[in-house]
Amino acid sequence: MRPYILGQLTRDLAAAVGSEHVSSDPRVVTEQATDWSWMSQYLSYRDLPLPTADVAVWPTTTEEVESVVRIASEYRVPVIPRGGGSGTQGGTFALYGGIAVDMTRMNRIIDIDETSLVATVQAGVDGAVLEKELNPLRLTLAHYPGSHHLGATIGGSLAARGSGVVSTKYGKAEDMVLQAEAVVPPGRRVRTLPIPSHAAGPDLLQTLVGSEGTLGLITEVAVRLDPLPKGRRFLSYRFDDVEDGLEAARRIMTKRVVPAAMRLYDEADSAKLTEMIDVGTDGVLLVIVLDGTDDTMMAVEHEAIAAECTNGSDLGRGPAESWWDGKYEPYRDGNAPAPPLLFGTTDTCARFVDLPRLYHAKKAAIEEGFAEYGARYTAHFSHWYPWGGMIYDRFYVDNPPEDPDEALALHDRLWDAAVHTSLANGGIINDHHGVGLKLGRFMRPQHGEAFELMLAIKHAWDPDGIMNPGKLGFGAPRAAAG
Ligand SMILES: Cc1cc2nc3c(=O)[nH]c(=O)nc-3n(C[C@H](O)[C@H](O)[C@H](O)COP(=O)(O)OP(=O)(O)OC[C@H]3O[C@@H](n4cnc5c(N)ncnc54)[C@H](O)[C@@H]3O)c2cc1C
Repeated sequence: MRPYILGQLTRDLAAAVGSEHVSSDPRVVTEQATDWSWMSQYLSYRDLPLPTADVAVWPTTTEEVESVVRIASEYRVPVIPRGGGSGTQGGTFALYGGIAVDMTRMNRIIDIDETSLVATVQAGVDGAVLEKELNPLRLTLAHYPGSHHLGATIGGSLAARGSGVVSTKYGKAEDMVLQAEAVVPPGRRVRTLPIPSHAAGPDLLQTLVGSEGTLGLITEVAVRLDPLPKGRRFLSYRFDDVEDGLEAARRIMTKRVVPAAMRLYDEADSAKLTEMIDVGTDGVLLVIVLDGTDDTMMAVEHEAIAAECTNGSDLGRGPAESWWDGKYEPYRDGNAPAPPLLFGTTDTCARFVDLPRLYHAKKAAIEEGFAEYGARYTAHFSHWYPWGGMIYDRFYVDNPPEDPDEALALHDRLWDAAVHTSLANGGIINDHHGVGLKLGRFMRPQHGEAFELMLAIKHAWDPDGIMNPGKLGFGAPRAAAG
């Protein structure tokens, strides 16, 4: 952006949010663009520049967000929302410059309705902080992503359709939201209905959810709460192969017994898990956690699950309990993968009927398709639905090419192979990490003709294309200030 325009824009933003809440310091805008995607980590590791905004702002109220979007619309410059920056898809990259809007000062817990079990919060509230406020009231949001310790916000979780460790019982972020308030171009506040179950026409709430800032900024939400469980039960099984484990999981879910968490590790991932958590076993491992406020009910569920796992060996409560206690270990510094390792989490989701084929096809696409690079593949199945489940799988290349262009190109090729294999075998491009920049190029193959309708919605909501441009495959802004 030309210095004169940037100066004027900065002054207008300062008038809207206060000059102490505006910065165009290169270090600050770089921090705002950084996320946990491999691309971001790799560029930082190699000391290469990230695509940054020209200026960053920290609003505290919806009125201030309205002013920021109004100013952005007048200048026709991009707006890039940022929550905790724990996203993994390059969603906070400012590909066309513009204004980074850091939502973390919008962190007010507005209301906790203990009668209906509903909390109303500003969208920038840190999920872990909200949880700490709820637990003394014997309440929980029950959204515990692996990034709980990294400042992931409620707005960010909704924007990217996130999922926590107990999603099988309590649902994904999009199942927890009742109502959202958002600011859309050219600075207009919209509010969805107070409740999500209605017959009052199409669902704007679920259009905003998952839009990753490309339609507007989510500023406030009402979310469903649950009673904090009084107890937990732990069950563990080992199977001869992934098929047997999947069959047990399918029987449990289609019998409509719903564990809080159920994870099936393939052999490679189970070996990796034991490096971080002493689960006391290896091989194809199924760990199950039941929770609730009534032990009699859990005892019945326990028995029903045991009856569906007779094709495996019962390992008792030990491995599952150790897994639960150490569940954040794989995400901690030193345990989480990091460059120079080349890696990607290519999670997908499918019906039960497709899961075994999908798993084997993806494993082959990575390990056989990229044998010359020694590519490795690991997988666990961790979020379950009444009709199927998700595969949390990863590729790794231990010794990627030294040249950054070649390393980035190889990363893209591995993603192409993984995603096209998912699409060809009944899977989808992503289960709960969102699309961002990384998966934008797969949106058209994923949605087919329906993608043109999505583009039409995008153009109607955001005619200048200023909202988080370059994400979700929606393309560049339509016009930009010089
Ligand atoms: C170690 C690790 C473990 C993880 N584990 C999980 C997991 O278990 N489950 C899971 O779902 N995810 C997980 N993630 C991914 C990430 O934490 C989630 O995507 C999270 O929901 C992002 O929230 P955030 O506030 O950090 O958003 P950001 O990273 O700041 O933003 C993500 C996207 O949402 C947009 N956005 C953010 N806030 C808003 C808003 N208020 N309005 C509109 N758009 C907005 C941004 O522009 C961006 O495109 C993990 C990430 C890491 C690094």
